[in-house]
Amino acid sequence: MGNETMPLSISGRRTDSEFVRKVRELGGENLHLCYQCGMCSGSCPAASHMDFSPRHVIEMARLGLHEEIVDSKTVWVCASCLACTVVCPRGFDLSRLMEAIRLLALRKRADHVGPEDISVEERGELPQIALVSGLRKFSG
Ligand code: SF4
Ligand code: SF4
Repeated sequence: MGNETMPLSISGRRTDSEFVRKVRELGGENLHLCYQCGMCSGSCPAASHMDFSPRHVIEMARLGLHEEIVDSKTVWVCASCLACTVVCPRGFDLSRLMEAIRLLALRKRADHVGPEDISVEERGELPQIALVSGLRKFSG
């Protein structure tokens, strides 16, 4: 998607209003609810495996930093456990935001992980349900 016509933010980065609109459409969450308290990041059991914390992902999404989010590990590592949602004082459901961003990424790109990335040995060792649910999450 070209972003030549998108407005510039205060920092000079191009904001991606189309991205924000689609994230809201798919995830149903209003990004502007978040006031960046950080409770979600503190409660996330997967945060140590993420390169951007859950709180940062919201701010990056608001700034339209779509590529940076998708290229990071964060949305792919999110386990949709809802720990962040339980503690959020604003009732923001981050798991829905993460899912919306994953969906947008998979719609635009090749699979994040495809069947060809799983070796024959791994296919034999992994439980069937893990393979199916993993491929549903990581491939379009
Ligand atoms: S806990 Fe809620 S309000 Fe606080 S940073 Fe996370 S999403 Fe935003
Ligand atoms: S739903 Fe995702 S972001 Fe939220 S606490 Fe669980 S792993 Fe972390």
